Amino acid sequence: MRVKIRRGDSFELYSQLFTVSAELIADANEKLNSSDLKESQEVVIPGYESETYKVRQTDTLWKLAKYKSLPVDALILLNQEKAESGLNAGESINLPRRINSFTINGKQKYKSDVLTRHISRLQEIFPFIKVRQIGESVLGKPIQEIKVGKGKLKVHINASFHANEWITTAILMRLLNHYLLLLANGQSIMGIPASQLYSKAELTIVPMVNPDGVDLVLSGPPDNLSQELIELNGGKTDFTDWKANIRGIDLNNQFPANWEIEKERKIPKKPASRDYPGNRPLSEPEAIAMAELANSTHIDRLLCFHTQGEEFYWGYEGKEPSEAEQLAQEFTELSGYESIRYIDSHAGYKDWFIQQFEKPGFTIELGNGVNPLPISQFDSIYKKVKGIFFSSLYL
Ligand SMILES: [Zn+2]
Repeated sequence: MRVKIRRGDSFELYSQLFTVSAELIADANEKLNSSDLKESQEVVIPGYESETYKVRQTDTLWKLAKYKSLPVDALILLNQEKAESGLNAGESINLPRRINSFTINGKQKYKSDVLTRHISRLQEIFPFIKVRQIGESVLGKPIQEIKVGKGKLKVHINASFHANEWITTAILMRLLNHYLLLLANGQSIMGIPASQLYSKAELTIVPMVNPDGVDLVLSGPPDNLSQELIELNGGKTDFTDWKANIRGIDLNNQFPANWEIEKERKIPKKPASRDYPGNRPLSEPEAIAMAELANSTHIDRLLCFHTQGEEFYWGYEGKEPSEAEQLAQEFTELSGYESIRYIDSHAGYKDWFIQQFEKPGFTIELGNGVNPLPISQFDSIYKKVKGIFFSSLYL
């Protein structure tokens, strides 16, 4: 919600008027100098939207403020001209509306354009998040990263490396929405104030690593690539099983951690709907973007959301630190998912991450069944993975 600054206003005043932490207000308005707010500049208040209200005969700002459970000054701030001249029946004024319910509906075909819309919407309501593009897919779709929090502990979570595991994006975005609601409304989770997580951890998420693949699964091939893709798909016109990127490379087999072993033993020897590791490691723009992200930013712990199996893997060639074992224990207790140290697999993002940085990395297989998991599993997955998501920010 945008409001015009008045002479003498401060972030502390806005914090009191709207019961939103002054820290979040400052983070949402980084371009403003908090100790020198200029009259008639705009400030954005997180967690609120302004809604239009038609004044009735008996209304006063005081009555409306009481109805909204806000100080009258909050309403005056939104209606600076009207406040001076008094309210007239029939005219429209602005009322602040606190956002305390989810804006993201994850229970839908979560295509890349849905994701982009949802990111913009979250950015509008919770402007203390930072969004940037870390790369582009083969077809030029943005690979976006969202950052929340200012702590030393750098936590990174990603989803939809695999196209037919797109439900992981919907789940991760909903978790993010949950966290943002807790922050803006000053609430706690698992007995811990969300504001503490915010100052302890910096969370970055890449909710959709493989946008081309996800769109292929959910909408079918783009016209100009239709023939080529049907061929890669073994002649099938149904793409619901597709796992790779749009060039038929499995993005989670692209990383230089014994990539040669996977190259040698994987069945497809050419691009296909799944499992083909490519001609060389990091040949695909989506994989390059993720490798660059880990190389250029510090990541203390990594969580990669996949489906399915209700289990997670956290070891690689003995390079995983002891902290990983403790986290694994906690994650199992919180989710009921089975903790598995080693599986016979190489060249995945978490394999490479552990090998490279010797920090805790997890591949987490959400849900149970046949991919793509039906959206009807959304609530049960959400319930189980929620503890993992939030505990990763404070453990
Ligand atoms: Zn997967």
